[in-house]
Amino acid sequence: MGVRVIRKKVKSAIGRSNLPGVSYTVNPYTGCSHGCIYCYARSYCPKEIGENWGKVVVVKENIVEVLAKEMRNKRKEGRLMLSTITDPYQPLEGKEKLTRGILQVLVNGKYKVSVQTKSDLVLRDLDLIVRNRENTDVGFTLTTLDERLAGMIEPSASPPRKRIKALGRLREEGIRTWIFFGPVLPGVDEGEIMEIAEIAKATDSAIFYDKFRVKEFMKSGIVGEIAEMARKTDWRVLARKIQEICDSIGVKAVPAFGRI
Ligand code: SF4
Repeated sequence: MGVRVIRKKVKSAIGRSNLPGVSYTVNPYTGCSHGCIYCYARSYCPKEIGENWGKVVVVKENIVEVLAKEMRNKRKEGRLMLSTITDPYQPLEGKEKLTRGILQVLVNGKYKVSVQTKSDLVLRDLDLIVRNRENTDVGFTLTTLDERLAGMIEPSASPPRKRIKALGRLREEGIRTWIFFGPVLPGVDEGEIMEIAEIAKATDSAIFYDKFRVKEFMKSGIVGEIAEMARKTDWRVLARKIQEICDSIGVKAVPAFGRI
């Protein structure tokens, strides 16, 4: 099914962030056509977008110019995240190139830049990431390694194997990389946790993990079933297991939001 695109001009580009270790955020889009069925961002978006998650995306068409102006006027420092309520490399980015424009502006700034994505489209911008490698890190979200399951819960994102390949490619270029293991699905087995830990080990990436958080909209279908399982899961036991497995092979694992 196609995505309805709404084009909009914005007055500001940089927003404040409450995420641990992150001062600022830039979201080039509102909404995300990766359409993950568990996405929490839908709760922070306007109603039309939240209720049609993955099918309506606002393109902030002038965000690169606005960011350039903000950088000239403010020259802020700190960590800036791309992005917090959308994926900066969702399919529309292929032609819109807003994330690329943002990275071009940031190359000359003082921000530490963290990019988080579920798409190997990030490799298109390898030149800019390499140019700003001292200040840039890139994280890939891995929710599951099961390609079939990933296709069901993250329908338009790159399959896990492509994300892992892109992670390796960035690492080869000396870029600092990390894995966001989340939301951890209830029922994940030790074998899969070990596989993710081994990917982290091979790419010298830290793991940030977070549990599956049940939200109001998770009422039916697969997400409803996962939410039901999540309610019955002892997350402290699962978090200990993740820590033990990562520790056993020397991989740094940190609860993404301080605790699980
Ligand atoms: S990629 Fe991220 S922002 Fe996009 S739908 Fe999935 S969880 Fe939400």
